[in-house]
Amino acid sequence: MTQKKVEHLLKAHQLRRTETRVEVLELFLEKDMALAQKDIEDELGTIDRITLYRTLRTFEDKGLIHRAIDGSEKLRFALCSHECNPVEGHFDEHAHFHCKVCEKTYCLEQIHTPSVRVPKGYQIESSHLVLKGICEHCS
Ligand SMILES: [Zn+2]
Ligand SMILES: [Zn+2]
Ligand SMILES: [Zn+2]
Repeated sequence: MTQKKVEHLLKAHQLRRTETRVEVLELFLEKDMALAQKDIEDELGTIDRITLYRTLRTFEDKGLIHRAIDGSEKLRFALCSHECNPVEGHFDEHAHFHCKVCEKTYCLEQIHTPSVRVPKGYQIESSHLVLKGICEHCS
C-alpha cells in the first residue's frame, strides 16, 4: 500500500526512484507529522547526511514537502497536499501546530492562513500561522 503510494508520488512529482527517496517518503507517510532532518536520521539510522539533505531540498523544490514553520529553531518539513507541484509551487497556506508536551509539529490543513492587510509600502512575501499548545495525543 505505502509502496504503491510512494511510487505514485515520485512519479507525479517528476522524481526518479532512489533508495533514499523511497525511504524518506515512506517515513513521512507513516509518521504523518512534521520531521526535522535529525528526526529522519534517527529513524533511518544508516542514511548519509548529505544525501538526506539533498533529498529534502529536492522534495521541497518538487512540491512533495513544505517547511512547517512552527516558531521553533528547528527546521521541519511535512508532506504537501496534492495541489503542490514542481511547476506552480506550493499551496500550503495552513496553520502549523506545535505541541509543548511532545514537541512535535502537525499540519492543520483545515485552518487556512488568514489574509491580512498591511500598511501602504509593505509587501508580504510569506505569512505563517503558528499555533502552540497541547496536541490531541497529549491532551
Ligand atoms: Zn507544498
Ligand atoms: Zn503532543
Ligand atoms: Zn504543513
